Amino acid sequence: MARRFWVETLGCPKNQVDSDKLTGTLLGDGLVPADAPDAADLVVVNTCAFIEEARQESIDTILGLADRVGDRAELVVTGCMAERYGDELAAELPEVQAVVGFGVPVHLGPTRTRERPRLDLLNLPRPAPRAPWAYVKVAEGCDRACGFCAIPSFRGPQRSRSVPAILGEVETLVEGGVREVVLVAQDLAAYGRDQGQGERRIVPLVEAVAGRVDRVRLLYLYPSDLTDTLVRAIGSTGVPYFDLSLQHVSRPLLRRMRRWGDGERFLRRIDAIRGQLPEATFRSSFIVGYPGETERDHDQLLAFVEAAQLDWVGFFAYSREDGTYAADLDGAVPPEMVHERLAELRELQDPITAARRDRLIGSVVEVLVDEPGVGRSHREAPEIDGIVNIPATLPAGELAKVRIVAAAGPDLDAECV
Ligand code: SF4
Repeated sequence: MARRFWVETLGCPKNQVDSDKLTGTLLGDGLVPADAPDAADLVVVNTCAFIEEARQESIDTILGLADRVGDRAELVVTGCMAERYGDELAAELPEVQAVVGFGVPVHLGPTRTRERPRLDLLNLPRPAPRAPWAYVKVAEGCDRACGFCAIPSFRGPQRSRSVPAILGEVETLVEGGVREVVLVAQDLAAYGRDQGQGERRIVPLVEAVAGRVDRVRLLYLYPSDLTDTLVRAIGSTGVPYFDLSLQHVSRPLLRRMRRWGDGERFLRRIDAIRGQLPEATFRSSFIVGYPGETERDHDQLLAFVEAAQLDWVGFFAYSREDGTYAADLDGAVPPEMVHERLAELRELQDPITAARRDRLIGSVVEVLVDEPGVGRSHREAPEIDGIVNIPATLPAGELAKVRIVAAAGPDLDAECV
């Protein structure tokens, strides 16, 4: 009987892509998916090491699965925790049979002792898509050195995939029924810089992907790389969705974060894009409580949030990460102050998001039906933003025009037109 496997995924969309590729490899090796971890012979936990909370969740998941499967299954830990704390994990978790980072020989085959080739995870095949949308990872690693971020230290410098490899994956996904491709990378707009082909390879890539699939969406754009040509390219895809990685708006604090820009520049850019693309939707995320964040910095962020009227915003408490530049900075912000600032920001943003959703009532939008009853227009990224509740009669995978009739917080209700 074929060996059965279970893959448990934690963390961000980029991890989900890795898990899909691991699944594709396991299927290619002749394993079959199990219905539950208890029924598997091989259990893989794809971990997240982004912040302390994510690491704890990863450890809890590993221990929970170890309890659940006992000696009946081989337990393998991979992903960011394995890359960042591989030796410690292997030493401290005897329940785990193997800890494997990506880009090393991965022992996930029918027997653990069999030598397997070095796997290039970025270019592994993936299984048939489960939804009419899919993430496609175009690069791994990052060449920047943002003060708070440990990713470059364990994911390494940026390694972009070749255009033919990406387009090949997009074509296979489209054949499998995918109508929206979400391009992801740690620093998406820097795609291709490491290939020696010069800057801005992202623009022809976006155009080429847009020529093969109905929708292409870009996640994680560093603001200095949002050039006019990239804005035009995004506009011409029909999905004017801008996920800007801003992190803060105070110039001195951004410099302490070793990042580019300031609130005024960001506002000018956002206004210009709105002038060019009235349907543009903006998402961003901000770190609250970075070492040295003053009351003045916080006030600037509040003023920016009010002025920018972004559609979707995530506010996150700063998390001190070993080995980062910020880990040794002075000026730690007391946790209770961080919570107060977070609450104040969220209180300000929530009605802005709701008002921007309310404004859509009465309009006709095109949605991609993710599953019966659930759709998304260009304004909603999958798994991150709100949704559009649609009539259940619309079949999954269809692009349909619907009229928005109500809004409830981040979600909208729509009827067929
Ligand atoms: S651009 Fe993103 S991944 Fe790269 S160092 Fe900065 S925060 Fe980390």
